[in-house]
Amino acid sequence: MSAAAANPIRKVCVIGAGVMGAGIAAQVANAGVPVLLLDIVRDPADRNAVAAAALARLKKAEPAAFMSPRAAKLVEVGNIDDDLARVAECDWVIEAIIERLDLKHALYEKLEAVRRPGTAVSSNTSTIPLGKLVEGRSEAFARDFLITHFFNPPRYMRLIEVVAGPASDPALVARVSAFADQALGKTVVAAKDTPGFLANRVGTFWLQSALNAAIELGLTVEEADAIAGKPMGVPKTGVFGLVDLVGIDLMPHLKASLTSTLPADDAYQAIAIDHPLIDRMIATGFTGRKGKGGFYRVNREAGKRKEAIDLATGEYRAQIKPEALPGAAQKDLNALLALPGKAGAYAWAILGPTLSYAASLLPQAADDIVAIDVAMKLGYNWKYGPFELIDRIGTAALAARLSAEGKPVPAIVEVAQGRTLYRIEGGQRQFLGLDGTYHDVVRPDGVLLLEDIKLTAKPLLKNGSAALWDIGDGVVCLEFTSKMNAIDGEILKLIGKAIPLVAGGYKALVVYNEGSAFSAGANLGLAMFAVNIAAWGEVEKLIAGGQMAYKALKYAPFPVVGAPAGLALGGGCEVLLHCDAVQAHAESYIGLVECGVGLVPGWGGCGEMIDRLSKLRGLPRGPVPAVAKAFELISTATVAKSAADAQDLGFLRATDGVTMNRDRLLADAKARALALVEGYVPPAPPTFRLPGAGGKAAMTLAVEGFQAQGKATAYDAVVADALATVLTGGEADLVDTVTEGDLLTLERQAFLRLARNPGTQARVEHMLTTGKPLRN
Ligand code: NAD
Repeated sequence: MSAAAANPIRKVCVIGAGVMGAGIAAQVANAGVPVLLLDIVRDPADRNAVAAAALARLKKAEPAAFMSPRAAKLVEVGNIDDDLARVAECDWVIEAIIERLDLKHALYEKLEAVRRPGTAVSSNTSTIPLGKLVEGRSEAFARDFLITHFFNPPRYMRLIEVVAGPASDPALVARVSAFADQALGKTVVAAKDTPGFLANRVGTFWLQSALNAAIELGLTVEEADAIAGKPMGVPKTGVFGLVDLVGIDLMPHLKASLTSTLPADDAYQAIAIDHPLIDRMIATGFTGRKGKGGFYRVNREAGKRKEAIDLATGEYRAQIKPEALPGAAQKDLNALLALPGKAGAYAWAILGPTLSYAASLLPQAADDIVAIDVAMKLGYNWKYGPFELIDRIGTAALAARLSAEGKPVPAIVEVAQGRTLYRIEGGQRQFLGLDGTYHDVVRPDGVLLLEDIKLTAKPLLKNGSAALWDIGDGVVCLEFTSKMNAIDGEILKLIGKAIPLVAGGYKALVVYNEGSAFSAGANLGLAMFAVNIAAWGEVEKLIAGGQMAYKALKYAPFPVVGAPAGLALGGGCEVLLHCDAVQAHAESYIGLVECGVGLVPGWGGCGEMIDRLSKLRGLPRGPVPAVAKAFELISTATVAKSAADAQDLGFLRATDGVTMNRDRLLADAKARALALVEGYVPPAPPTFRLPGAGGKAAMTLAVEGFQAQGKATAYDAVVADALATVLTGGEADLVDTVTEGDLLTLERQAFLRLARNPGTQARVEHMLTTGKPLRN
């Protein structure tokens, strides 16, 4: 059963089809739930034009808003004058119109008359208190009302802040929160009804202190970002780069709303100063990336010169790479804070006030430190939340420095008495409360993380690139641990050892990890090393070893479930192709990209892909269509843009599962594996009827056509020829039966032939040094 079906929210109405409303509607559709998207009537002759234009924009959005064309079909557009009564069809109405209380009030009054009692109504407001929003509404409306604050872009930002009012029905809040979590894939943070909620409250304070201090201390924007970015666990855009990205013109809005709603003695009031330079930039259209430029710009008139603004003069100049910080200061916050001169002073000017401010929000804006940490990590992409940063400095060190400067020590730091704010106790992660005692960090039901399992468990097996974990109920998890989870000999070795171990005492295996990529593919560096010393035997061993390991997974006497999230490319994709079933995170990007580096899939991907495509819905049966499709996907190194897209393309089966919430992936994969246990029989090896030399000629012709149009390079044709040879069955004839083993042999031969070619070697070298494909 899909998460959506398990949830009583079956249809959603989004009102306001702007940046946020449209993006939210797309994510609801991505969850497989129908959405009605309404906006105002601007043109009486074309009454749905505003929402229709928003839908058209969504379909072209970059990064993509929809996970598949199927999702786009679930959005129906309309207008509030003609269609508002249709909210009676919906279980949740999300208001995302412009940030004006009078307009929101007028809309709620109309909604009150047409909505079904019990239909949740929420506002996406960033700044208006819930108390104000429900003013003048009935008790029944207030009971069904809450704030659900999404972040932009709604598909990709994992945070949602949920604010319930004193009158909100807890069961309804729980229902909306569960839908946001399971169906929309968001992490729900409960926030209180205070200005800016959590992430923007801390985020705005942080940005403002960083801007003020850079100007005061006379730093360049490059110097500032080098200190305020990576060393603090903040995305490397730093502060100025981030403001450019979100829009410099957003700053005065956030500032105005917070200064007008926060009490006069709030610490933000004192730092919310105007900078003439920033006012001037906004007035003249230098609003960041969407404007004429921001603190940084690419000057097209000067040959795409990368420039930055001089904070003192307001003039652009060529970017200056700042002096590198000492190694220790890049990793250790105390080393960063101890740096002499401006660098250390700048780090403290940001961290001292920002961490104190975050701590001052307890308990008025948040119940505990976990809520604020999660909000900053998921809402601003910080690697560590403010309280995790405090632990990295040490509560005693922070208290000492604040006291020495005559600044107040926040209550939670005082209460800590030198203890850490987080600790692991008996394998359980705990946080310190204002009451001075530790409390468990509780995961929602259905969330299972390897990170938590590792707190108490020892791996069943482990080497330099992989580990095997008992995840309970007879299920074992194979984790890759190499850089980018690239597949190497160590991983293959561990697979070899894992199979008898699982067969001997467990029920099923899940292939899963918590890296940013499931697997970026085979470790090309290692392969290249063998190629460079012409150790062809080693290369062949790696290919044959991979084929054996993957087939062993496929024919193991127990079910194997792949559970990818993020990139699953090349050898990483081939692992999935050998699993009995896949439970994929919705944001999985799967593809066979070997041709990009002048190779062909060598670990069984060719045969598995043909087998899968021969069963793909919508593709005609017979040997030619599946082979032609596999050729198209592999020769163009196509990567699916989501799990849903991977199902449409055939990298995943229609029956494979999709999990929207990353934190629920392992539990879902484990459940899928257990469901396969009873009566499990390994698959029968397929045999293929392949189109042979005749089929290959058609493919070669197509590639020649692309070459003539300039869409394929000379070496593309060489690689495509090798691929076509494998996929069509080599010298086989249509009447011949090709076995899985024959195809593996063809793969190995093609791979080795290409690996010896300087054209392939140049592609691999280029990829390893630049991270980009070489078009030779
Ligand atoms: P936007 O200006 O992009 O879109 C607002 C939309 O509302 C427009 O399409 C407009 O035509 C429509 N609209 C205006 N009045 C209306 C009415 N009476 N009935 C129906 N539709 C009406 O704004 P946005 O950035 O999408 O913001 C929408 C809401 O989300 C605001 O409350 C904002 O504070 C909040 N928010 C914005 C962001 C962000 O990053 N932009 C993030 C979180 C929350």
